[in-house]
Amino acid sequence: MANVFNPADPATLHAETLLVHGGTTRSPYGETSEALYLTQGFVYDSAEACEARFKGEDPGFVYSRYGNPTTAMFESRMALLEGAEAARATASGMAAVQSALMCHLRAGDHIVSGRALFGSCRWILEDFLPRFNIETTLVDGADLDAWKAAVRPNTKLFFLESPTNPTLDLVDIKAVADIAHAAGARLVVDNVFATPLLQKPMQLGADIVVYSATKHIDGQGRCLGGVVLSSEKFVTDHLQTFLRQTGPSISPFNAWVMLKGLETLALRVERQQASAGAIADAVAGLGKIEKVVYPFRHDHPQYELAKRQMTGGGTLVTFVVAGGKDGAFRFANALRLIRISNNLGDAKSLLTHPATTTHQRFTPEARAEMGISDGLVRLSVGLEHADDLIGDIAQALAKV
Ligand SMILES: *Cc1c(COP(=O)(O)O)cnc(C)c1O
Repeated sequence: MANVFNPADPATLHAETLLVHGGTTRSPYGETSEALYLTQGFVYDSAEACEARFKGEDPGFVYSRYGNPTTAMFESRMALLEGAEAARATASGMAAVQSALMCHLRAGDHIVSGRALFGSCRWILEDFLPRFNIETTLVDGADLDAWKAAVRPNTKLFFLESPTNPTLDLVDIKAVADIAHAAGARLVVDNVFATPLLQKPMQLGADIVVYSATKHIDGQGRCLGGVVLSSEKFVTDHLQTFLRQTGPSISPFNAWVMLKGLETLALRVERQQASAGAIADAVAGLGKIEKVVYPFRHDHPQYELAKRQMTGGGTLVTFVVAGGKDGAFRFANALRLIRISNNLGDAKSLLTHPATTTHQRFTPEARAEMGISDGLVRLSVGLEHADDLIGDIAQALAKV
């Protein structure tokens, strides 16, 4: 069958191959590129056919809030890439996180989470879910005893991010998965920083994996999107109905952009990661830098763990510029190629000053506890030539 992706055994194929072909279903026209089905609804040949569709006896589409052929291709490709039974796309990464939590939690449940989280994830846990009597205990993600000690009889969910934003600390996913399962809880991993290529949380025991597709999956700064990956049973029991009834659906147009983004994901991440490693090493040798953090550098305190659970160090580098906020601002303002932005995973290299942006709502004490000093900057490495980026960093540091 040339019109659907149908290899004998997709599990034997490499990620690069799945990223180009996975999940493709062609219309009767046999188009080469994935079709964009920009439609809200669907029509039926007869009232009987419509009835069967609504009863679920006929597997076709009903309404794009429930599902759409372009979105379904994106979901299938993501599931194949992750090695997950099922995937559901959402309008943004935060819609994916919120759906993955809310679809199965109830008042009275308890969550244990790593403390270092993307700002909006932390707001959901600390400010939003308590309104519904769902409490969260935040722990130091690297401290396995703290994860264990935080468990209560009503603990239903563990949540973590690794590497963390922006300090690139790691959490031992397998060890935390074991603690979660011993407690009868599910583990949700936000795998954005590692990308689906460099870390496989489900192989390490995670039950649910979430992505902001906005980042590396689009990779060219265009559309928002998100994905939840899980077992088929979790989708049937919890996620499917929640998504259908509450409606955080991705636009088919955005799903199409993400599908095309996936085609080049491996090439982009490979290049960005190679440049990130080269930049981390080059920056470490420059003056006016107090510290460089990169998971695959020998001086990363969790280097052994990084090598064990990741197949690459990732596309982000964090470093501390001498002179605190003043030094970091002078450095950022002197950059000529690298742009100041809070985004990441883009083809363009982007620099963030977390203390005054993504983490400005925290007190200085809370930031210090998270390791976010005033001189700390996070660099999301793009597709420019590494030498040009290193040159830009060096000339900007000279102005600090
Ligand atoms: C960006 C991001 C999110 C949120 O994704 P959006 O697409 O912006 O909603 C969640 N977690 C992490 C780690 C992120 O980097």
